[in-house]
This record gives sequence, structure tokens and C-alpha cells, in this order.
Amino acid sequence: MKLKEAIELGKALGLKTPEEAVNNVLIHSLNLFKYEDIPKELHELVMDAKEHGIEFCPTCGAAMIDGECYMKDLTHKEV
Ligand SMILES: [Zn+2]
Repeated sequence: MKLKEAIELGKALGLKTPEEAVNNVLIHSLNLFKYEDIPKELHELVMDAKEHGIEFCPTCGAAMIDGECYMKDLTHKEV
């Protein structure tokens, strides 16, 4: 999936930023793609997003906003 498609999907769901749209796709990939297509679709999306300046959390892989992982409460386990 291209970033543009993810953003359009996000807009339809009321999401305001490209980062939120990317995270939405990452979270709901099981519902959006055929199982065997998930790695290919997500790889394409992450590569396209990186080309557009979106950064990803080194810990959980979520798209970050202003260098902050706002998925961290959900995805970063306590050490
Ligand atoms: Zn994270």
C-alpha cells in the first residue's frame, strides 16, 4: 500500500495526520489485506512513508510524531 492510499483511508476514518493513518494501517493490517500479502503491503507503506519524512519508532515500529512514539503506552512493555 502506498502512503497516499493510507492517508485516504485515514481521512475516511477521521484521522488527521499521515502518521495516524500509517499506524491505523499497521494496526489493522489483518483486516485490510490478505494474510499472505501483509508483509509486502506493509513494507511498501513503510518505505513510502520514510521517503516522505515519516519516522518510525525503533522500539515498536509505529510511525512517530515529532520524534515521539504515541503508541508507546500500548506497545512498549515495561522493562
Ligand atoms: Zn514505539
